[in-house]
Amino acid sequence: MPDINAEPTTSHVVVAVFDGLRPDLVRPDLTPNILRVAAKGEWFRQARSVFPSVTRVATTSIATGAPPAAHGIVGNMFYFPEILKDRIFDTSKASDIHAAEAALEGNYVTAATFGDQLAKAGKSLAVVHTGSAGSAHSINPRAKANGHWTFSIHGEMATQTPEAVREAIERLGPLPAKELPKLKDQDYAARVMTDIVLPRRPDVSLIWFSEPDTSFHFLEIGSEGSFAALKNADRAFGTILDTIEAMPDADQFAILVASDHGQISTHAALPLFEQANAAGFSVGLGNQLVGNAFAATSGSSGEVRGLSASDAEVEKMAHWLMEHPDVSHVFSRDKNGVDGMIDGTLSLKALGLDHPRAAELMFILRSDLSHDIYGLPGLGLLMPGDVAPGGGYHGGVNPHELNTVLIASSPAHFSNGTVNHRPAGIIDIGPTLLDLLGVEKASTMVGKSLARTSDAEPTFVRLEAGKGSFEQQIALMDDDGRRFILHGGQE
Ligand SMILES: [Zn+2]
Repeated sequence: MPDINAEPTTSHVVVAVFDGLRPDLVRPDLTPNILRVAAKGEWFRQARSVFPSVTRVATTSIATGAPPAAHGIVGNMFYFPEILKDRIFDTSKASDIHAAEAALEGNYVTAATFGDQLAKAGKSLAVVHTGSAGSAHSINPRAKANGHWTFSIHGEMATQTPEAVREAIERLGPLPAKELPKLKDQDYAARVMTDIVLPRRPDVSLIWFSEPDTSFHFLEIGSEGSFAALKNADRAFGTILDTIEAMPDADQFAILVASDHGQISTHAALPLFEQANAAGFSVGLGNQLVGNAFAATSGSSGEVRGLSASDAEVEKMAHWLMEHPDVSHVFSRDKNGVDGMIDGTLSLKALGLDHPRAAELMFILRSDLSHDIYGLPGLGLLMPGDVAPGGGYHGGVNPHELNTVLIASSPAHFSNGTVNHRPAGIIDIGPTLLDLLGVEKASTMVGKSLARTSDAEPTFVRLEAGKGSFEQQIALMDDDGRRFILHGGQE
């Protein structure tokens, strides 16, 4: 006889991450299935990503429950001379990651992950990933050693457990051809979940939808094509919910729905480093580093490091960036918890970026809350690259880049259909799922279990710095031992 007085428990957790999804696009017409989860659970509406708000940094923060200061993935692209001296390290590329893992003996990610904690407790984790090889790696970087299972839509070379790909192909047919929007990838991945993963009942399973991020970048946020991609990913997610709901113990499943960061539209391309070179600096990007004084990365935010440049030249570069009318923020190594060592800059440590691998300078291009052509708030600049002006981007501290989807549902925890405005973020995902399963979190995890209420009083913090006519601000929220970046001074 079942004990009718027993507390409800969670025996399985399913996590669904929608890459790049802004919470203001969680709407009945676009994401009815995400809203199915919200109607039964709790929506953490103020949830925040980390800085820089890019996929591999955020992925690793989801995995480790900690900011980049702990996990060491300090950019999607960053100069990592321990591994590569001649070009910028690319965290999406399997070959770069293999080189790093070999050189660092499996410690490319420098903090424990929820995958590591699950493995220590003898629990299983299956990941179904449609993002890059690097993203699939970073969500469970020690998957093979942990005895876990990671499927990648990019094939056997994009995962430590190629048998997962072989098995899917055998059961479901060949991997889909590349397309834009990426519809078939999400459909295929959902079938891997419903037909292969869920019947095996792993303790934790995670599906990563590469949409709507890809279509927001290349088809513009709010376009017909990007909304088709979002609706399709949500519909694919709905098939997973249907499968769980048909299980006899569906009430023991917790479901977490999240995004890794948001996106904002861009309105112009800014060739920042062409301008820097015209001003007399010698900056190399990508694989063009040799012979340059500085190495830099591009996007809507990025890093600058001295190669042959002296400290005085790095300082001169920081001042040039601060004098540039299209640069909104410049950060350098910590001086006092607020200011950077270079006069006028803010501290990288204050934003959770004081890892030994972090650059000496980071910057963000200007963005604001004005509306794009589709009526969505958030518009910014972008350096020339593969995304054309008009396309979506992320990486900075605009609230629409930082605000993420975070919804938790389980019969044992979380109130039905509530919207919760307390501070929360992607760093809470790992600690929450571990707590739901009664597994201890790692000592390096600063995130908190969202299943527990806190008596801590959140503290609003405003960082300000500047030099001459340059002024910069960051709004933060400190709560219960963790810090969330609210926005970059856009009120
Ligand atoms: Zn992403």
